[in-house]
Amino acid sequence: MEKEQFLQVYRHSLAHILAKAVIELYGPEVQYAIGPQIADGCYYDFVLPAAVTESDFKKIEDKMREIIKRREDWTVQEVSRDQALEIFKDQKFKTELIQDLPEDEKITIYYTGDDFVDLCRGPHIDNSQLLMSTAFQVKSVSGAYWRGDEHRDQMQRIYLYAFPDQKQLKEHLKFIKEAMERDHKKLGPQLELFMFNETAQGMPYWLPRGWKLYQALIQYSREVQDMHEYEEISAPVINNNKLWIISGHWAHYVNNMFIVPGKDQDEQLSIEAVDTMADELPQRDDGVQEETPLLQGASDPLFRI
Ligand SMILES: [Zn+2]
Repeated sequence: MEKEQFLQVYRHSLAHILAKAVIELYGPEVQYAIGPQIADGCYYDFVLPAAVTESDFKKIEDKMREIIKRREDWTVQEVSRDQALEIFKDQKFKTELIQDLPEDEKITIYYTGDDFVDLCRGPHIDNSQLLMSTAFQVKSVSGAYWRGDEHRDQMQRIYLYAFPDQKQLKEHLKFIKEAMERDHKKLGPQLELFMFNETAQGMPYWLPRGWKLYQALIQYSREVQDMHEYEEISAPVINNNKLWIISGHWAHYVNNMFIVPGKDQDEQLSIEAVDTMADELPQRDDGVQEETPLLQGASDPLFRI
């Protein structure tokens, strides 16, 4: 198995262990939704009878270790839609996922031991003992909406750092710590470049030193753009969700976007979250991109909310 694939498989398998641990800790009324692997580990979304806080992290990690030590087999079963709906009849999110599957989709369920089952395509490890050498740690818990929709259930998303061994986890934690020490929100005020005020969260007040630096960077950027025959434009900082749907932000980051209602009931506007799509839009709209490529750049502000 390729290293990258191995990483994905065990991170995702740990997400199942996380779900099993949370159910054992919080009881059968736990509703569990999805648990993908991500860049430095995995997460799982739950609706729980109690709020998870940092003081619960160790308890969850210990339970996961206890489960892994059981060395349980992971078994896969292919089931019909009706069987899947019966198995997950008490799980509203799984039921919805099953109902949304295309008619001819092969449905597979995975057991970890004989008491935890999840709806999943796999692949996974085939026995929990393969996770014994891995290193993981609960990273955080945050609120998330089911399917990113603020009108749907609010869930608790538990994030896990997961690495092949302790050394790599420690290296990653060190990297995170150092990154936090270099956090611009900390360095900016320290170096008297900019400051924040509660009246404009996420938007800096540039101080004289910082503003000089800012202007110098803009100047440099313009020189480089000129050199490469880019032309500068200025794009709107607020767009409606049509743009964010095209860019993919709506599907992935809607929970973290600053949304304001538009003029129609269906319209929602959002502040520019990253600088790219708005710049590309003029090229897409005028339809001449293929024949006469326009080289454009914009130096618009970005907002962190
Ligand atoms: Zn899975």
